[in-house]
Amino acid sequence: MRALLIEKDDQGYRAAVQNVDEANLPAGDVTVEVAYSTLNYKDALAITGKGPVVRQFPMVPGIDLAGRVTQSDSPDFKPGDEVILNGFGVGELHWGGLAGKARVKSEWLIPLPKAFSARQAMVIGTAGYTAMLCVMALEQHGVTPERGEVLVTGAAGGVGSVAIALLAKRGFTVVASSGRSEEAEYLRTLGAAEVLDRSILSEPGKPLQKERWAGVVDAVGSHTLANACASTRYGGVVTACGLAQGMDFSATVAPFILRGVTLAGIDSVYCPREKRLQAWDLLARELDPKLLELVAREISLEEAVAVSGELLQGKVRGRIVVDVT
Ligand code: NDP
Repeated sequence: MRALLIEKDDQGYRAAVQNVDEANLPAGDVTVEVAYSTLNYKDALAITGKGPVVRQFPMVPGIDLAGRVTQSDSPDFKPGDEVILNGFGVGELHWGGLAGKARVKSEWLIPLPKAFSARQAMVIGTAGYTAMLCVMALEQHGVTPERGEVLVTGAAGGVGSVAIALLAKRGFTVVASSGRSEEAEYLRTLGAAEVLDRSILSEPGKPLQKERWAGVVDAVGSHTLANACASTRYGGVVTACGLAQGMDFSATVAPFILRGVTLAGIDSVYCPREKRLQAWDLLARELDPKLLELVAREISLEEAVAVSGELLQGKVRGRIVVDVT
């Protein structure tokens, strides 16, 4: 099978497409013929070696996959079943989706939602499913469209693009924060009512600022997250899922203890199965397939290394879907 393989040894850290013997696939009770995988921010860190994502070598990256079961020792899946996988350390600790085949644990798999093709599910991928987890958290904490505007940071990226579409569909007034003014039209087509220059949020700011946001979906971290908390309205909710600006978080407790703001952490990797299924079910019902095409860019396995570099430079719009066949 063809696979993107990451190796690290005396010659350094490198990723390249190679022919790999299927006998080298790791242990697991289900084998999947992969049709599509994706490139998320984390995959780009793994492929370029710019972040400590891969913890075992050699590694096949790819935290997402969609394909068809070819062999199964699990009563839950049979050959021919269409499945998807997001996270669970796949592409980090266990060989992932950027290969012709993957052998995984059955409990990591969920059936491909009927509303989506394998390709559409991968256009959504971990980034889109995480956007849905953020929207679900806002709802669980009582944020409704009547409460006011919702801020989405890292707006032209994968999480941001899908979050805008989902929030707009639910009737929220969405304000998109982006460093790319040339993508303003794209962000408005997805459903943003207003586009802010991200520099407004990305520099150190005051502990408490003018109250504006009823809710926030933050894919960026660092000063952006601190400023988002500082400008969230009384009782508002900030969902933190990303670190595209940085992992640091220099903030004060002022928004939390004086305005009752809630900071909700979002993890997609080990999110329980029931919540995953709920998120995918909501994605199937609420995401406009036409907007998915607007968000998608398809590449081949061979292009994955070069595009990973572009992604980390913030040059990729929306989502990258990888045709591994
Ligand atoms: P993308 O690269 O697609 O999007 C990130 C966006 O952040 C960019 O498009 C850019 O948007 C913005 N950005 C990039 N660099 C900076 C910077 N220096 N300062 C401010 N903004 C910046 O990544 P994804 O959408 O796939 O992921 C976003 C984040 O969410 C990542 O940190 C990722 O690791 C995290 N994540 C976390 C998950 C979880 O389970 N918690 C799951 C999925 C993702 P623009 O050009 O519009 O400003």
